[in-house]
Formats: sequence, C-alpha cells, structure tokens
Amino acid sequence: NNSLMWFRQDLRLQDNQALAAACEHARRSSVSFSKSLNEPSNASSDLSQVHSQQSAGSVRAVYFAVPKQWQAHDVAPIQLDFIERQLNVIASELAKLGIPLDVIHVASFEEIGDVLAQYLDYWQINKVFASSEPESNERLRDENIAAQGIELALFDQHCYLAPLSVRNLSGDMYKVFTPFAKKWREIAKQNQVETLAKPAAIAAPLAQPSEINLRCNKRCSNEWQVGEEAAHQKLRQFAKDKMHDYQASRDFPAIEGTSRISAYLAIGILSPAQCLQTLLAYFPDALVNDDSPGRCWLNEIIWREFYRHLLVAFPRLSKNGNFNLLANNIDWRNNPQEFQAWCEGRTGYPLVDAAMRQLNQTGWMHNRLRMVTASFLTKHLLIDWRWGERYFKQKLIDGDLAANNGGWQWSAGTGCDAQPYFRVFNPISQCEKFDPTGAFIRKYLPELDGVDLKLIHKLKIPNQAQLFDNECYFSPIVDHKFARTRAISQLSVMKRGS
Ligand code: FAD
Repeated sequence: NNSLMWFRQDLRLQDNQALAAACEHARRSSVSFSKSLNEPSNASSDLSQVHSQQSAGSVRAVYFAVPKQWQAHDVAPIQLDFIERQLNVIASELAKLGIPLDVIHVASFEEIGDVLAQYLDYWQINKVFASSEPESNERLRDENIAAQGIELALFDQHCYLAPLSVRNLSGDMYKVFTPFAKKWREIAKQNQVETLAKPAAIAAPLAQPSEINLRCNKRCSNEWQVGEEAAHQKLRQFAKDKMHDYQASRDFPAIEGTSRISAYLAIGILSPAQCLQTLLAYFPDALVNDDSPGRCWLNEIIWREFYRHLLVAFPRLSKNGNFNLLANNIDWRNNPQEFQAWCEGRTGYPLVDAAMRQLNQTGWMHNRLRMVTASFLTKHLLIDWRWGERYFKQKLIDGDLAANNGGWQWSAGTGCDAQPYFRVFNPISQCEKFDPTGAFIRKYLPELDGVDLKLIHKLKIPNQAQLFDNECYFSPIVDHKFARTRAISQLSVMKRGS
C-alpha cells in the first residue's frame, strides 16, 4: 500500500487528517508484513517480502504549483510567497519522517489529472489522500480526478464541522448567521475537541530537500513567520493575553486586539479544530455560556465556517453570483477613475485611505476597515462588489474566497444575512469612533502630520496648497450625504418584493 498525500490549503503536519490517513494506509501494509514475519516460513523468501513490503508501505507527498490557475483566482503574490516559505518548512519536516515532497508544476487544474495518473503509476501508488476544498473549481477538479478512476480520499477539515452538516429543521442550510451559530455550537459541544499529533516517521529520514521555488510572481511575506510552531505561539499568545478583551478592542485598528491568524488559517498552517481547542483551553465555557469572554472570538470562527458552508450549499457564490438574486438588477456606476482612487487610498476620506494603504503596504487589513472600505466602494461609489472582492484577493495574505466573498456581499447588502442595503456606513463617524486618537490614520497618511485631529475627523482638512512639504491630501471624492441618498435609491432594487 503506497500512499500519496496531496497537500493543498492544509500546509501542516499536525492535525492533518489526510496526512494521518495516508500514513495509516501505508502502515497497514507494514502490519501485514510483520504478521507474515512471525509465521514460520522460508527465511530468504521472508527477506524478499521485507523488501517488497517495506517499499510497498511508503508515503510520498505532492504539491501542485498552478500559476495560471492562481492568476485566474487572483491569488495575491504575498500569499504565494507565504505558501512557498511554508512548503519549504514542511518539506524538511516531512523528510525527517521519511516522506519526500515533490512540487509539480502544471499550468492549471485541468492538467493535474493526467500528470497525477502518471505519477501514481510511476511510484506504484494506489491511493491519494487530500483535504476537500469548498470552492467550485476545486470541487470540479476533484470530481474529474475521481472520474479518471484515481482513488482519492477527501477529508473535510477546512471547517471544524463539515459543510452541510449544520442544517435547519427542514434539513436545509441556514441563511441567517445567528441560528446557524446556535446549531453549530449545539453540535460542537457534543464532543470533546480532538486534534491529531504529527504522524510518526514512516521510514528512515531523508536528506534535507532542496529549496522549493513556486516560479510565480511573489511578494515578500517575511513579516509573517512561517512554521506550525510560530502559528501556535501566535494563537496561544492571543488566547492568553488578548482574547478576554477581544470584544472591547477588536474594532480599533490602532490596537492589536485581534489574533492575526487569518493568514495561517487561509493556507492551513493552523486547523479550525486547533483554534477551537486553544480557545477552549483558556475559556472552557465558550461553547455553552453566552457570557463567556471567549464567545465573541468563537463567533468569528463560526462566521468563517458559515461562509464556507454557504459556498458549498450555493455554488453560484464561487462564480461571481449575487447571493440575493434581486441584486442582479443593480445598476452599478463602475467609474474606473473612482475605483483607481479607492485602490490607491485617494478618496479624501482619511479612514478609507489609511485602510487601503494598510492593505497595499502590508497585505493585510483590519476587519473594521474591510467593512468600511467595502461599504464605501459599493455604497458611496456604487462600484460592483466584485471589483473590490477581486482587488482584495490580489492583495491579501489571508485571501480566502469564502470569507472574502462573504465579507464583500455582506457589505454591499447583496449577500446572505447581509447588512441591509439602506444601512450606509458613515466614513466620517466611523473614523471618529474607531480611530479616536488618529493613531491609525497618522501611521498610514503621513501627509496629515501636523493637521489638527479635529479637522481630520470633521473632514475639514486644509486643501493641498495649505499643506506643507509639497505633500497634499485629497478633497473628498464624493459628498457623504449625497452619496448616501444616491446609494439608498439605487440599491433599493433589492427591496423585498421589488
Ligand atoms: P480575528 O478577529 O482574530 O478572528 C479570528 C478568525 O476568525 C480570523 O482569522 C478569520 O479566520 C475568522 N474571521 C474573523 N472575522 C471573520 C469574518 N467576518 N468572516 C469570516 N471569517 C472571519 N477573512 C479572511 O480570512 N480572508 C479574506 O479574504 C477576507 N476578506 C474579507 C473581506 C471583507 C470585505 C470583510 C468585511 C471581511 C473579510 N475577511 C476575510 C474577514 C475578516 O476581516 C478577517 O478574517 C480578519 O480581519 C482577520 O484578522 P484576524 O485573524 O486578526 O481575525
């Protein structure tokens, strides 16, 4: 029994059900081999059996580099760099377990089937183990591979509770978060959270593998430490020091009040089960007590699951479709110059601009700001949420179709359990409320150095000529009150019954 572990967005050795199963599958042949050794028989034939059985019980691992597909899916260069660095870490960890990792370069998903079939044939591997993925292209890829007769065992571990396992009384997927979360907690609390340890070595250690290069457009991600230990350390530190106050501090971008583990979850350095286990180690009542200080963070983990379950239940979400079909009638303005100004942080609304510059400079953006900038693009500028979703994906280190699509459609009001179309974030009061000291704005808008905070908050920033050092700031791209009225009028096509 030779097995193949196909790594995807599950780049870890601990708590990886697919890897554990691949090792178990190979070991099963070692068990039959040790049994046969105990049986009295001819010594030399036993030896030949030792050899053939040992090689029959090997595990190999692959990762497919698919640059054309990454481009089509707008995977950010910073995320690709993060993936590459993590692949190098796991390649060397796997080598210690006697498992070689091959990175195979193909252009797109369509090519994988044939290449994989040849690979399995060459290494005489009879079974492939991998994590399932919720996106439709990825699901189609797996269906095609299975249709080719390749035995592919998939493990639903990108969520703690598998997609479609949390259903309402009619057996359907929930369309509102709160009852989904309630049911999710009810199911989750029935069992102790268990996570798997790193598998034991399967064979003698291999030589240190050579450096992996994904040969694609990358952007340095060194600000984010790779490796499972670093990820766990970050998670534990957050649980120990910050989770208790998360509800109070999570909305202030100048404070590091959130965990910043999204990048690790997005490529699977951490599993959702590990996150839940760590949360419960510090706040054991988070699943059962509404007032537990761990509850607020737990809900964010459940939001992540909600959006992934939705992606599986409603495949159109993976294909640019509005969740709310009435949104198909929206007449987006889609002004390219205004879109460009938004991308570059030149809207004249300091919180929006500082946020976009945080995204452009660091590859990450605070959640409150993702909501503010997404609302601004879709409601103030009436630009299709898909433009913003795409731009975010191209920049984010934690880019993830489910959460990104969910967040964008929530903000635009087109999504499942979304912010209603008539609620338009006020980027001026959001700024006063969530960056009261101006610390965040000043960090990313150095041209506002020396400008009185009250003027910044009131959007009464001196015009270009009055600012010093040839640095200028922009006048607001659109008047807030005007934009709000326009948005409500244009987006009212989503009114129920319209
Ligand atoms: P914490 O606040 O510590 O939360 C813990 C974890 O819960 C996060 O790491 C994340 O996995 C999950 N989570 C938190 N909030 C949400 C949420 N609203 N929806 C789904 N999962 C959530 N998150 C991504 O991981 N990838 C994306 O591409 C992405 N795009 C977004 C786009 C928009 C327009 C919006 C409004 C939100 C988006 N989010 C996305 C959700 C959220 O902003 C990030 O998960 C969060 O900011 C990551 O920071 P953190 O790890 O410190 O989160």
